[in-house]
Amino acid sequence: MKTISGLNKKIENCTKCPRLSKYIREVAKNKVRRFADQDYYGKPLSGFGDVKGKLLIVGLAPAAHGGNRTGRMFTGDSSGDWLAKVMHQYGFASIPTSESSDDNLVLKNAYITAAVRCAPPQNKPTKEEMNTCFNYLQQEYEILQNIKVILCLGKIAYDATCRLIKVKPEKFGHNKLFEYDSIKVLTSYHPSKQNTQTGRLTWKEWLAVFQKSKKLSK
Ligand code: SF4
Repeated sequence: MKTISGLNKKIENCTKCPRLSKYIREVAKNKVRRFADQDYYGKPLSGFGDVKGKLLIVGLAPAAHGGNRTGRMFTGDSSGDWLAKVMHQYGFASIPTSESSDDNLVLKNAYITAAVRCAPPQNKPTKEEMNTCFNYLQQEYEILQNIKVILCLGKIAYDATCRLIKVKPEKFGHNKLFEYDSIKVLTSYHPSKQNTQTGRLTWKEWLAVFQKSKKLSK
């Protein structure tokens, strides 16, 4: 029987996408000035959270200087700040911040993952890279037995989720709910700086998505 720790080990050591493997190591070596004194993780990232949880949150991929630096998804960047804050507000997270992999953040009734496990240049994985990495999402979903709701952060996450549950994607938009026999799929704009700083995604709209997630994952 597959276990989450066995899968996570496989992900951590994966080098199937040469471009991404090279990129995450280069980023980890060259760093960015504001984090020059830190050791970057620089490896593919597995998901994290409550393996018995009912809510699965699917993002796009780790951020070059966020997850790729800290070693945990949605950790150490502004997307992580938005996610931890709202998850704490709705009782899914023990603390309202996500700054480092040893910050004692514990997720309750929720698991966080992504369509692609290596940070891609310009946040843009190729189709081939998405296809190659999809297998990890599939294996993870098989292991997480209690998922009732999948919250997709952005269109790439939504498309990967539709493939995962074998349904045809509908038109993507913010705070849309698609209900299937065994699973509910909720969509949101990604809480990236490009969306939150431009007002494309407001805090009120972000709250609304989590209010719905909370209700559905009871
Ligand atoms: S993106 Fe996924 S499949 Fe490609 S190297 Fe990273 S972990 Fe492996």
